[in-house]
Amino acid sequence: MTPILYIVIPCYNEQAVLPVTAPLFLKKLNDLSARGKISEDSRILFVNDGSRDDTWKIICSLSEEDPHYVGISQSRNRGHQNAVLAGLMEARDRCDITISIDCDGQDDINAMDEMVDAYLDGFDVVYGVRSSRETDSFFKRVTAQGFYKLLSTMGAEVVYNHADYRLMSARVLREFANFREVNLYLRGLVPLVGFQSTTVSYSRAERIAGESHYPLKKMLGLAVDGITSLSVKPLRLITSFGVLVAVISFIACIWAAITALRGRSVPGWASMTCIVCFVSGVQLISLGIIGEYIGKIYMETKQRPRYIISERTRNWDSKE
Ligand code: UDP
Ligand code: MG
Repeated sequence: MTPILYIVIPCYNEQAVLPVTAPLFLKKLNDLSARGKISEDSRILFVNDGSRDDTWKIICSLSEEDPHYVGISQSRNRGHQNAVLAGLMEARDRCDITISIDCDGQDDINAMDEMVDAYLDGFDVVYGVRSSRETDSFFKRVTAQGFYKLLSTMGAEVVYNHADYRLMSARVLREFANFREVNLYLRGLVPLVGFQSTTVSYSRAERIAGESHYPLKKMLGLAVDGITSLSVKPLRLITSFGVLVAVISFIACIWAAITALRGRSVPGWASMTCIVCFVSGVQLISLGIIGEYIGKIYMETKQRPRYIISERTRNWDSKE
């Protein structure tokens, strides 16, 4: 039996891109089903992430045009990760496989063929991995590479150069649904679910239209979330660093005592100031890191819903 594929596409203020990329996704879907790789019942599922422009209207009219397009809308903007999660969770009981992909045409849709083939060969998770970052700006390339390095030294297991373009089987999604955290960092969580996985490489193009929603501030936020939701290594680093500073201080105390006893002490304003500044800096950073984790615990204890769906396209409802 051919598997039912749902392509899950988060969209936030994408009115400029959607009319261009939607037909490309449909063509790929029809092509795959014509070749007998996937079922006729496969769908393209758009998740409108509380867009302020006409994105939802476009999704609705697409769904009227062709029954392969379906859509859900989040009650407000909740961010890319939550939008993808909403789509995956909604799709999981209706399909055999999902592929999540951005709607801006940056990820090469032709990699889907290989992804589906890998699934048919028995893999439950297939990560799309960028083969090169030539189309990214120099700045984005350097920061992104630094980010992956930082993640791995901080003990978070992630697939290098993999964003959120991936195939997941319904079996994986059912297990994944039990990961109840509110602090979502999908690309770090999926490897934790396990199952047989492989990678497919593709080259990433430039955005077809519109603007990136990931400026530096958001990227830094994602980096901090990634590290703190996957690893407690920074807390351990603080402890090690604290021990190091304590040892140095201890030696410095002995040195100071000996100097004083020898009667060679001088008014030590400069050194005192340096020490005070340094130690208070270390303390504030450490408190900040601990605070980051406490903030995470705080959000987790509330157990707020991770997504709220306010609307669905008509053809999506009728299936239920
Ligand atoms: N996106 C979203 N919610 C947001 C921000 C972005 O659903 O709050 C979607 C966006 O529509 C796109 C994908 O996430 O499909 C990736 O965003 P973008 O292309 O802006 O990021 P970049 O590729 O520059 O990292
Ligand atoms: Mg993009």
